Amino acid sequence: MSMIDRNLRSLLLGELISGMSLTLRYFFKPKVTLNYPYEKGPLSPRFRGEHALRRYPNGEERCIACKLCEAVCPALAITIEAEPRSDGSRRTTRYDIDMTKCIYCGLCQEACPVDAIVEGPNFEFATETREELFYNKDKLLANGDRWEHEIAQNLELDAPYR
Ligand code: SF4
Ligand code: SF4
Repeated sequence: MSMIDRNLRSLLLGELISGMSLTLRYFFKPKVTLNYPYEKGPLSPRFRGEHALRRYPNGEERCIACKLCEAVCPALAITIEAEPRSDGSRRTTRYDIDMTKCIYCGLCQEACPVDAIVEGPNFEFATETREELFYNKDKLLANGDRWEHEIAQNLELDAPYR
């Protein structure tokens, strides 16, 4: 570009105008950014997020304390204790997951014969202390109660591919 061209372009604010026109072009295009946390992107039904223990619709715990999830967990993050109830059914008395050890492999969910332990869609469970990531049975059941609708929907969507 010659000196005259450059000076003319500066005088007529050519760069400013081309910059503004580029801005204007993108102004009317669909936005590629999300206003997180008010807007969230789509999640796969197979997303492996925070763990939850599910119940049957009558409120009974699904978990039958078979301990398959504990046995399969490669990170040794799950600790279960169990004893029979007065009605003869077998239920856990302790179900802990150390979320600081968990590697979100999903093997516990795969091993469970009654879809009791699942990895739900929640990914917003950051904490300020390590202790808050030591989940006990009450916490896991509360997660299950909170996310049951989404978890059931995701399991149904994924069922044809299993
Ligand atoms: S997701 Fe994997 S590492 Fe985490 S508790 Fe389940 S089996 Fe263990
Ligand atoms: S969560 Fe499932 S795999 Fe784990 S002990 Fe309970 S029934 Fe067995």
